[in-house]
Amino acid sequence: MKTIAICNQKGGVGKTTTAVNLGIGLTRLNKKVLLVDADPQGDLTASLGWVWQDDITNTLASDMENIINDKPINITETILHHNEGVDLIPSNIELANIEALLVNAMSRENTLKTLLSEVKDSYDYIIIDCMPSLGMLTINALAAADSVIIPVQAQYLPAKGMVQLIRTITKIQRRINPTLKIDGILLTLADMRTSIAKLTIESLQGNYGSAIKIYNAIIPVTTKAAETSATGQSIYKYSKSSTAAKAYENFTKEVAENV
Ligand code: ADP
Ligand code: MG
Repeated sequence: MKTIAICNQKGGVGKTTTAVNLGIGLTRLNKKVLLVDADPQGDLTASLGWVWQDDITNTLASDMENIINDKPINITETILHHNEGVDLIPSNIELANIEALLVNAMSRENTLKTLLSEVKDSYDYIIIDCMPSLGMLTINALAAADSVIIPVQAQYLPAKGMVQLIRTITKIQRRINPTLKIDGILLTLADMRTSIAKLTIESLQGNYGSAIKIYNAIIPVTTKAAETSATGQSIYKYSKSSTAAKAYENFTKEVAENV
């Protein structure tokens, strides 16, 4: 059983798209997978087809609030089942209030970990889609995770943001979760015809390649991938023969081999 956080404090780098297609990719390898939407935007929830996420009453926020207030939780009532085989703990804008509640909560870093410990035994993988910040919710995700995957957009030089993210991960390892690992960097939104994509890849390999695995699979920028999130499906179902489907399939295999 492994818990993976998909994390990068920059928005629009493909975290949610990666969570969907890694999660469903792993179910296609016969793994039991739970996806966790840890972003108040609820993009993961919407991407899986629950587009009216603000109408959902049982969410990650309601369960985390119950834990903070020492109330009983019934997580099986929260978990939604997607028709491609993954399960989901959904989120909506209510989760924004939890960020503030956590600040004054006891064992505030471990609330999500406590919640997930209730269901861990039922899954091979739990994949947490993080929000674009390094606040309390992301700290909770990193505290609950065995490892982190960092999607990086292959369209600009991401050096600065990476330093900050790695510093946060190191801090979490030192203070809260000593066994947390960085599984690897996934290059996303890559347009290999451009020199900036090649430069980004070279720069990442130069700066981090010796310390952090950079996945061989590189996710290309394609309209098929962009369209998928509006369909409530994975890229495998929406556009099976697309280059993005093939890339996500290869990436999923690399993740599954690394246990
Ligand atoms: P994040 O979760 O990091 O904010 P998303 O996964 O939501 O990133 O992706 C940001 C936007 O880019 C979304 O509109 C998404 O549909 C689109 N997108 C993601 N991956 C690709 C891709 N490989 N090619 C083209 N568009 C993509
Ligand atoms: Mg997202």
